[in-house]
Amino acid sequence: MKIKFHGVSNGYAYENQNLGCICLDDKILLDCGITNFPRPYFDSLDALFLSHGHKDHIVGISSLTLGLAVETDRKARKERDFCIYSPAGIKEKIEDRIDSTYKDRVGIIELNPGDKFRFLDEYEIKTAKVEHKGDCLAYRFEKDGKSFVYTGDAVPSQEVIDLSKNVDVLIHEASFVNKFKEKASSWKHSTSEQAAEVAQKSGAKTLILTLISPHVRLNNMEEYLTEAQNVFLGKIIIASEGLIYEL
Ligand SMILES: [Zn+2]
Repeated sequence: MKIKFHGVSNGYAYENQNLGCICLDDKILLDCGITNFPRPYFDSLDALFLSHGHKDHIVGISSLTLGLAVETDRKARKERDFCIYSPAGIKEKIEDRIDSTYKDRVGIIELNPGDKFRFLDEYEIKTAKVEHKGDCLAYRFEKDGKSFVYTGDAVPSQEVIDLSKNVDVLIHEASFVNKFKEKASSWKHSTSEQAAEVAQKSGAKTLILTLISPHVRLNNMEEYLTEAQNVFLGKIIIASEGLIYEL
């Protein structure tokens, strides 16, 4: 599996730091915080999986669906529906963002914690409840014996630890450093240390920290990494825009 990070910022985008968006194997987007997509994606994408309905994770849906509509008409893109998978309860928010020219070709599939299914005959997918604000899901993808979990915005929880059991890569939100722990907890976000605790308890081999607060990215990255390393004994990667991780 090839995981490409297109956006790794949380809350707002700035300079070259886009909002949360990951692409798996050029086929699946996880969250949609970007509005400028690599053009080949309009041919290759099959689905978008949303962690939750906050604006910074869905802002790109209008641009994405208009692009799909235009490219479909112009190049007779293969006739298959594009699907948006999301936690149950945010369907209206998603529909509001889908471009009207593409509305009838997008399926919205609502998921619940604990769902398990096969996708594109390649991926085994499992979901778990995430503690954040509103309805939120983490996703576990498995293919050819390899696995990763993506949490979206999340505070540490037993559900995510269980979902991430012995996973190859845990991609966990970590917006803050310890000195902003109170803020993190009131906004239902994690510190890098808390994400590291989840990784350590789950037996993950590699931890990728992402969805980082702009203030922390600009001022606190040394302590951000050190605080995670003090807790998690495996490999730690701080996500940056353009990072490609293969597993
Ligand atoms: Zn959020």
